[in-house]
Amino acid sequence: MTTQTAVPVQTVRRAEGGAALVSEAELPSTGQFIDGGFRPSTSGATLDVVDPCSEQVLAQVADGTAEDVDVAVAAALAAQPAWGRLTPKERSLVLLRIADRVEENTDRLVRLESANTGKPLTVSRDDIASTVDTFRFFAGAARAITSQAAADYTEGHLSVIIREPLGVIGVVTPWNYPLLMAAWKIAPIIAAGNALVIKPSEQTPLTTIAFAELVADLLPAGILNVVTGVGPVVGARLSEHPDLAMIALTGSVNSGRAVASGAAQSLKRVHLELGGKAPVVVFEDADLDDAASGIRNAGFWNAGQECGAGCRILVHESVADQLTERLVKEISSFVVGEPGAGDDIEIGPMVSRAHYDRVAGYLSRAREAGIRAAVGGGTLDGPGFFVAPTVLVDVPDDAEVARQEIFGPVVTVETFSDEDEAVTRANSVPYGLSASVWTENARRSHDIAARLEAGTVWVNSHLVLATEAPWGGFKGSGYGRDLSIYALDDYSRTKHVMHNHSR
Ligand code: NAD
Repeated sequence: MTTQTAVPVQTVRRAEGGAALVSEAELPSTGQFIDGGFRPSTSGATLDVVDPCSEQVLAQVADGTAEDVDVAVAAALAAQPAWGRLTPKERSLVLLRIADRVEENTDRLVRLESANTGKPLTVSRDDIASTVDTFRFFAGAARAITSQAAADYTEGHLSVIIREPLGVIGVVTPWNYPLLMAAWKIAPIIAAGNALVIKPSEQTPLTTIAFAELVADLLPAGILNVVTGVGPVVGARLSEHPDLAMIALTGSVNSGRAVASGAAQSLKRVHLELGGKAPVVVFEDADLDDAASGIRNAGFWNAGQECGAGCRILVHESVADQLTERLVKEISSFVVGEPGAGDDIEIGPMVSRAHYDRVAGYLSRAREAGIRAAVGGGTLDGPGFFVAPTVLVDVPDDAEVARQEIFGPVVTVETFSDEDEAVTRANSVPYGLSASVWTENARRSHDIAARLEAGTVWVNSHLVLATEAPWGGFKGSGYGRDLSIYALDDYSRTKHVMHNHSR
């Protein structure tokens, strides 16, 4: 440990001989994918992509400009009408082929994702399998959209409800699940007949570029365009672009604000999947073994760099010690290391130096405020941006670590004394993405779930997702839904055509 506290001391397991996960030849193009081909940025400049385990430069990508965005939008505008006129069945077949192509290239995509993010191979495997499933789901869903039946709702007038594509959509994605978050947007957007211009995170663009390469021959030129670069340049141009019908962002609350205000002038639609601070409410009647192992997964999957992470544990005061004891045991058993160090690695590094400093800052300020780490509590020896899996206990309700999104392998434990207090405190943060309630009491399982202000509430579980079910936030976690038929709705518009057939 480079900072004080914590039992037991964690070490970072390294890949033998520093073996690279991907060869030079497996890295994708360094260009922008526009109108079906790769081209350099109009700036000629590049951005470094860093391996968060070694801190070495892994690759370089184009540092995109507003002009690059404009060229990509023009290509998308030209391509979209023909794509939008295809039947759902025809578009569906393309999505199925995309799913197959990704699945065939799973091994390379898994290693590329882990090389760029540092995440364990098990997490990347899950990401790529879920990416495949997302395309397969939307291939089916696009053929089964439901609408109000065509009928005479006014005498002599037949109402026909039509779902239409929006046109061209701008997409901005984060670094925590680079390809999966891209898939959550690309699949419903193209399934609904739109074209898009996507900007991956400047820290993790590699799998999105590799995806574009892999599917280039499956999609008409201009339907999918990838412009790499930084948020305030490429993301900002997408937000304000007058010809885009919508901008969809998955990212932090601050980026959400920037995107929404950039979009205001053109009045384009805005779709925001933002941060979270998910409460895990554990009642005295809960199965505490299940709760502790559930938190082990839900709080620490992807090293806690997860918008739905179960990170704020609110436990009834009568069982707080028992739960903490179980949690300490669970969290002490994590295997931390580089993805190349073995299939049993469970916790990787923070994605970047800046994010590592952010997480370390939360931990050191918590320490200064007298908050005790029952496990972990600091950073781990470098190279790489590793943070020890941490459980902070006896955390006051108003502590910074209990209210702000840390986005690292850190959970906090607070106690409550009755149901009303649990609900009030769980709802007291500005976020509302997800939450869970742990109880064996049937009334509580319904009542508390109904009272928690979150787009997803789990009962006796946390962080289990289904492609058929919607994902998205309430309150400061944004609006709009990913996954499910609700995403298809979000990425299309409703038209009412009324025929006067009265004699
Ligand atoms: P971030 O907001 O820093 O970056 C996300 C994307 O926004 C990046 O591509 C970035 O370049 C871009 N961006 C930054 N400033 C911008 C601007 N002014 N205009 C337009 N685009 C801009 O977020 P991150 O650090 O990459 O990801 C972590 C955040 O994402 C966390 O808050 C997490 O909770 C959230 N997240 C949410 C979900 C969800 O489904 N709700 C899923 C994953 C991540």
